[in-house]
Amino acid sequence: MRQASAVPTPSDFERMLRGVELRVTRPRVAVLSAVHDHPHADTDSVIGVVREDLGGVSHQAVHDVLRVLTIAGLLRRIEPPGSVARYEARVGDNHHHVVCRSCGATADVDCAVGPAPCLNPSVDHGFVIDEAEVVFRGLCPDCSTANR
Ligand SMILES: [Zn+2]
Ligand SMILES: [Zn+2]
Repeated sequence: MRQASAVPTPSDFERMLRGVELRVTRPRVAVLSAVHDHPHADTDSVIGVVREDLGGVSHQAVHDVLRVLTIAGLLRRIEPPGSVARYEARVGDNHHHVVCRSCGATADVDCAVGPAPCLNPSVDHGFVIDEAEVVFRGLCPDCSTANR
């Protein structure tokens, strides 16, 4: 079994695309690879990284690929309140984020206790719930040092 932390190769990305029955295209592989390398990147950053590889790719093409990969479950879109949408390749584990109030730096926070307890709200209002979003806020180390 490959470790989750192993650096994926282009053929891994191709396998992921085939695994969700998506055609393998260079923009899709480039976007997957960019988000793996830059977790929590916003769309503009993803476009910047993808263009280092594929110079001619349009904003719209990258937007479309991000949407398709998110719907397919290969990427997760997070939208911390007050922040632009960001994308990450760590999907399916309902982890949370800590966001710096000053510079927007974002990091992963595992669920506090056991398997996603926050998916079991005390009242579900009849909804079938498959996701919960908790955002921790504060100042990142850089910003809290700068403020002192
Ligand atoms: Zn900060
Ligand atoms: Zn994350």
